[in-house]
Amino acid sequence: MSKINLMGYTAQQMEELFTQLGEQPYRGRQLFKWMYNDRRTDFDGMTNISKELRAQLADRYDIRGLELKKQSRSSDGAEKFLFTLEDGHPVESVLIPEEDRAALCVSSQAGCALACRFCATGTMGLLRNLTVGEIIGQIVFVRELHGVDSLTNVVFMGMGEPLNNFANLSEALRIMSNSMGLGIGAKKITVSTSGISPKIKKLADSGHKVRLAVSLHAATQEKRAQIMPVAETFGLPKLIEAIKYYTDKTGWRVTFEYVLLEGFNDTKEDIKALARLIQGIPCKINILAYNPVPGLDYKRPSDGKVDWFARELYPRAPAVTVRKSRGREIGAACGQLAAEDKA
Ligand code: SAH
Ligand code: SF4
Repeated sequence: MSKINLMGYTAQQMEELFTQLGEQPYRGRQLFKWMYNDRRTDFDGMTNISKELRAQLADRYDIRGLELKKQSRSSDGAEKFLFTLEDGHPVESVLIPEEDRAALCVSSQAGCALACRFCATGTMGLLRNLTVGEIIGQIVFVRELHGVDSLTNVVFMGMGEPLNNFANLSEALRIMSNSMGLGIGAKKITVSTSGISPKIKKLADSGHKVRLAVSLHAATQEKRAQIMPVAETFGLPKLIEAIKYYTDKTGWRVTFEYVLLEGFNDTKEDIKALARLIQGIPCKINILAYNPVPGLDYKRPSDGKVDWFARELYPRAPAVTVRKSRGREIGAACGQLAAEDKA
């Protein structure tokens, strides 16, 4: 019989487990710290836990990380990790180092059900939600490989819609932000969503206080629905209301992601509509040129067009940034994750 994997257990679950074993709950917290903070995967090295208990644990439990299938590095420094989950599904993470920080772009689902027309992950359909251990496992893996300082930020911009895996996301956030856990402060964590309005409110109420990014990509309901089927279920007025709720409740401004699709959302009219839409919302707009996906019809605008769009928008928005794509040549840039590697 295979052992029960403790990777992904929260501090509370660990306490409960130890209570069940007839031990003091604080012993569970010690194990929690060993696992995530000290990055130990063998019970033997957990010296403040008695030998008997260690043996008892090793009998029934283990701490298993993710299995790496393929690793690739692009010339701009981005590094992609393709993992094979225990049931064979693929999932990817991308490490993006910058001068004084490094973000790990993590996945929350294998595939995605929402089928945004421009997104590679969207063509896969949803295979399944990742478990808490599989979400956390991506961070643990990279830290084991490159050291604890190899990443300073975590962005949920890999595969999947994080808010559609809310329960597991929430527990993963708890482990990440716990200083005895992975110790990554909530303000260094960004959850990116395609705009599941009720879940944005739920995230606001959860008390996690993570940063929120919303994939907007078009400033009118009609246009947005053309590229994001999810917009038909969660329309713009309700989405804006949910975002305001989030910014009010957390005090963080929201980041609007706006991927420029050549000839679709890149005109003066689009800029005006965007400026109108965001009025009164504490926000930053992050402009990104589309990363072409083979088989999909959308085109990447020229760098000049991207600059023009950002410059025109700048006086009408509280803050505008242009995000450089990283890792395009290894299929690791935003929206290119499709885990096609079947070899
Ligand atoms: N499902 C979530 C998070 C994962 S997608 C979301 O949609 O927000 C991360 C970001 O990549 C989103 O902003 C998404 O719209 C964007 N994206 C998807 N495909 C892209 C592509 N081909 N080029 C650039 N960005 C893309
Ligand atoms: Fe899913 Fe996000 Fe891709 Fe849309 S953009 S299909 S929500 S992963």
